[in-house]
Amino acid sequence: MATNKVRVRFAPSPTGFFHIGSARTALFNWLYARHTGGTFVLRIEDTDKERNSEAFLSVIYDSLKWLGMDWDEGPGKGGDFGPYRQSERDDVYREYLAKLQAAGRTYEKDGAIYFKLLGERSEVFDEHRKKTVTKVANAPAIIDDLIRGRVERVEDEDFVIFRSDGNPVFHFVNVVDDIAMQITHVIRGEDHLSNTSKHVELFKAFGVSPPKFAHIPLILKSDGPGKMSKRDRGALIEEYQKRGYLSEAVVNFLCLLGWNPGDDREKMPIAEIVKLFDLPGVNQSNARFDEKKMAHMNMLYLLELPAETFLAAARAHLEQHKVAAALAAEPAYFREVMLLSQPKIKGLEELSAYTAYFFADDFPLDEKVKTKVMGKGDPKARLRELIELVRGADFGSDTALETAIKDLATKNTLGFGDYQSVARLAVSGTNVGPSITGMFRVLGRERVLARMERLLAAA
Ligand code: GLU
Repeated sequence: MATNKVRVRFAPSPTGFFHIGSARTALFNWLYARHTGGTFVLRIEDTDKERNSEAFLSVIYDSLKWLGMDWDEGPGKGGDFGPYRQSERDDVYREYLAKLQAAGRTYEKDGAIYFKLLGERSEVFDEHRKKTVTKVANAPAIIDDLIRGRVERVEDEDFVIFRSDGNPVFHFVNVVDDIAMQITHVIRGEDHLSNTSKHVELFKAFGVSPPKFAHIPLILKSDGPGKMSKRDRGALIEEYQKRGYLSEAVVNFLCLLGWNPGDDREKMPIAEIVKLFDLPGVNQSNARFDEKKMAHMNMLYLLELPAETFLAAARAHLEQHKVAAALAAEPAYFREVMLLSQPKIKGLEELSAYTAYFFADDFPLDEKVKTKVMGKGDPKARLRELIELVRGADFGSDTALETAIKDLATKNTLGFGDYQSVARLAVSGTNVGPSITGMFRVLGRERVLARMERLLAAA
């Protein structure tokens, strides 16, 4: 049954880790399906038995799920066009091979099965390959690519569709499945543009008009001209998951690798992107990966998380990284520390180090900070004054605490900073962190006093 309904597919080969380029291809397919009310198919191209692994396959499933790219048909989901793993579709390939054979479009040579192009043939010596090859005078295949525009390419040599070991070749299974699964739009990386003329020839030989093609530009590495590779820092989706990135932020960032809403908005809810996304809107030029931008996007999402969601994400992250001291803390205290830190960290990966001194009294003192703070003015006097102040201060209000410190500074014709730096060093061992009054409030009077007295004794 032919319908006008959009059917797209993401067709990964489980031969390596799931990287940012694959994730973006999946995402653009998913977005297009959701935008048009179409169907998003997941098809596993695992005919290359030697290079495929089940471990890589589970990484693909897990990453897609983590990113929220639910598939409508595919492994684990079923559908009318299954099975969705090419390794299980051998009978389909034999059936389609028989069609080509019946049409006289194949021949065998050296055990392999070739696809035969139509057109005048001539023997030509190929300088590059140093052998005589058969060239076919063929009309160019015309690809009206939805992103690249019109592309013409001549396929002038027959090509193998079944290897001598009996296994079908990528071009063949890819096209057969796009026909059998009634795919209407092929959205994939630009690295496949060079294969498309072969695919168009096969579609024609099957008497089927090709789907629409949309080849997405490459992702360039953050520095230099090259294409982002699996080995580049920031390339693997799994890494972001491990580092506690929010999947919504990663998805938002991936959308912007080659697409924008037509104005300068960057942070956008996915529902809004689904509404606006369209293939002609995808850029023709290559996108550049920018890790800082990704981190910044993550921070924006983190800032906006409702308290309960943030706390759950923080706990899950700390559990994953077995940060025992934080996890063992009183729930109410844990909550206060986390909420104080939420607006100050760029990502969950910073959380453990950022909050360590809240959960342990034996935190280290940053030597550089210590030398600087203890070498300026009379820090011991400041500590004594602060201890006095903390004993009687109102810990219920950050503003009252702040005013008290300010008044103390004014009284001694000093600045707030003169007190803040030594107080920070005493309670946290460093010179960065949440507001000093927030730290005091959360740590509580007893801890603050003990830590200041300890520094005073050691100074
Ligand atoms: N299995 C191919 C790949 O991973 C998919 C090609 C396509 O989308 O047509 O690159």
